[in-house]
Amino acid sequence: MRVIVTLNCTECKQRNYTTTKNKRTTPDKLEFSKYCRFCKHHTKHRETK
Ligand SMILES: [Zn+2]
Repeated sequence: MRVIVTLNCTECKQRNYTTTKNKRTTPDKLEFSKYCRFCKHHTKHRETK
């Protein structure tokens, strides 16, 4: 039951990454610190629909 989710930068709102998660074990929105090539530094990336 793994679904593909898109991560977007919380600063510039660009969609930079996709990942998969298990909806059953991770019902909440994912949040990662990742490098954003638009902001040119690490930013928080959040799951989007
Ligand atoms: Zn960004």
